[in-house]
Amino acid sequence: MSFLNETHDPSLQSWIESANLPDNGFPVQNLPFGVFRPTGTTEGFRPCVGIGDKVLDLAALSSTNPFQAEAAEALAACMSTTLNRLMALTPAHWSALRLALSRALRKGSDLQKLIEPLLYNQASIDLGLPATISDYTDFYISIHHATAVGRQFRPDNPLLPNYKWIPIGYHGRASTIGVSGQTFPRPIGQTRPVTEGGQPGFGPSTRLDYELELGIFIGQGNEAGKRVPLRQAESCVFGFCVLNDWSARDLQAWEYQPLGPFLAKNFASTISPWVITLDALAPFRTAPARPTGDPQPLPYLDSVGNREYGAFEVELEVLLSTRLSREQEQAPFMLARSNFRDAYWTAAQLVAHHTVNGCSLRPGDLLGTGTLSGPHAGQEGSLLETTQGGKKPVQLPWGEERTFLQDHDEVTLKAFCRKPGYPMISLGACSGRVLPALIDDL
Ligand code: MN
Repeated sequence: MSFLNETHDPSLQSWIESANLPDNGFPVQNLPFGVFRPTGTTEGFRPCVGIGDKVLDLAALSSTNPFQAEAAEALAACMSTTLNRLMALTPAHWSALRLALSRALRKGSDLQKLIEPLLYNQASIDLGLPATISDYTDFYISIHHATAVGRQFRPDNPLLPNYKWIPIGYHGRASTIGVSGQTFPRPIGQTRPVTEGGQPGFGPSTRLDYELELGIFIGQGNEAGKRVPLRQAESCVFGFCVLNDWSARDLQAWEYQPLGPFLAKNFASTISPWVITLDALAPFRTAPARPTGDPQPLPYLDSVGNREYGAFEVELEVLLSTRLSREQEQAPFMLARSNFRDAYWTAAQLVAHHTVNGCSLRPGDLLGTGTLSGPHAGQEGSLLETTQGGKKPVQLPWGEERTFLQDHDEVTLKAFCRKPGYPMISLGACSGRVLPALIDDL
């Protein structure tokens, strides 16, 4: 089965020259969606598509009526402040809009004169939260993360018996999801008593961590009671973003039994402003990494297609800067690199599992993959793993060290797809900064 069409031709060039520069990340083969407004204005946010170092205002483009049929319907859904209306359409609409935009932005397009006045420099806009997110579910799909974390608590039996059968997840909080640039005060809460049976601690978290994840934006949803079969699951996926699931490990350790994470994770979650469509990622499809010898999933989580091309090769990076490193104008330090292809479950399996009991998903819902760690040293998606629970500090090149995050630390997550003979496809970056705890009213 081929997922490729003329929009994936690696030789396509745009009449916007910055889109043709090597490794710019936003070539005409990408066409990521976001919402923007010019910096310094109070104009409403509106949908845009990223191209080179520019964005194209899709709401303004829609009022010129340049496209026909499904592409025109999809563009009309961009007369909005978020991407939810576009997400609520079908993959046929998303693909038609992608094809129309690809033709409009490539060299020789008749629409160049019409489109030029509707472009903005990315340097002079603000990007908003791309969708109204009603619900957020975070999964746990990296077996390497699950094993490394499990080993800290159960050295002899790190992986729980359900792991290879169920995509483990919990319901997160949508209200505190922010877009890249988010800042938040260090969370405060209860921590495990120092002596067993004693009174718990209370105060600012001292074991604040990041989690390197991708977010999956749900497109069209499903009615309550009607599950989405695996073979249709990708038709419910609009695209991917980068996600930092900030986690307070000390709060988590005390509260997580028996119902899972709660206040340890719902104080802030940060996503990148760009949503990269499944179409844009099609050249990077691959087989999931389930080792031979592992049990095959139950039939509702298994299909030939999913086994052959249900996963995606997406490179991931974590970078850290601190107040000191920024004062000294040092480059951020790369803490880890990993790859989405090493995950145990695919996006389609997450949708099929999430809905198997009749749970409804809605356009703009966000699924987190869980921390995407790889099998090797240097591929840890959290400080919990890098520092082995705080036992082995990371030495930073400017002379500081870290076990967990300090106030004013800034974490940037990046994701991109690369392969020989194809332009680099960026998923954008997601930065967030920790502010001091608010303790005046304690
Ligand atoms: Mn997580």
